[in-house]
Amino acid sequence: MSEKMRVLLYYKYVPIDDPESFKDEHLKFCKDLGLLGRIIVAPEGINGTVSGTFEQTQIYMDYLKADPRFEDIVFKIDEVEGHTFKKMFVRHKKELVTWRFEEDVNPNQLSGKRLSPKEFYEALQDEDVIVIDGRNDYEYEIGHFKGAIKPDVKASRDFPKWVRENLSEFKDKKVLTYCTGGIRCEKFSGFLLQEGFKDVSQLEGGIVTYGKDPEVQGRYWNGKCYVFDERISVPINRTEEDVVISSCYYCGKTEDRYVNCANPECNKQHVCCTDCEVKHKRSCTKECLEHPRNRYETESKEQQSV
Ligand SMILES: [Zn+2]
Ligand SMILES: [Zn+2]
Repeated sequence: MSEKMRVLLYYKYVPIDDPESFKDEHLKFCKDLGLLGRIIVAPEGINGTVSGTFEQTQIYMDYLKADPRFEDIVFKIDEVEGHTFKKMFVRHKKELVTWRFEEDVNPNQLSGKRLSPKEFYEALQDEDVIVIDGRNDYEYEIGHFKGAIKPDVKASRDFPKWVRENLSEFKDKKVLTYCTGGIRCEKFSGFLLQEGFKDVSQLEGGIVTYGKDPEVQGRYWNGKCYVFDERISVPINRTEEDVVISSCYYCGKTEDRYVNCANPECNKQHVCCTDCEVKHKRSCTKECLEHPRNRYETESKEQQSV
């Protein structure tokens, strides 16, 4: 039986002088504590998502907040059944999000206006507003705000080109951006300002915070929110207006569950209904189905024996 656990999602843009040794120390602390997850450390700050028991996650939050650099860090907390990660990684990177802007943006100096879920909800009701999804196309696919523009990008570094080629006509409009937990908008909104957009606002705390707001209840969100752990997606819209906007990769039926292809060398995430998962053994192509290391059969046996 799986244990009640918590998932933490957090970030902070603050200078870390020696990220390499910070990373080593941090990894040791997390491993000793028994957390699982993925944390990125850069000279500009920290970004992480980890899972653990109530006690482990509490100790971790206290530990991070005891460091003056992170005393005001915001943790988004979800309750889950069991770990949502298999391993513990702490990686040192140049940037928390790989934008590779020609001219870097310091979100503590240049950033769009920060809107609370309620303010964002109200801004969405303005008919003249332009809403830009700050995530990648596959994330948009299973869920997004009503009327949001879908970025034709596979990764953050593709955004500058996409913005220049497709959004220039909106520079004088009121622009809203949003992303999963808020981190991508930190620099993306600043980038838009740099590009000459005049009125840019971002959803503070991201979609996951929006979904928890007791008043807004996730209104205007369609579908699910893609997350970077084993849950793959989480619900946001708590009202009866919740709609499914994606469809099964195989049969086309309305569906919003993402699964990983059972071929360990493919792993492609695709939307798949429960019937088709069995029928196609969760394999995205014939090649994947026939792959010698296809893990569908072994996994279902394991589940039956539990
Ligand atoms: Zn299907
Ligand atoms: Zn595949």
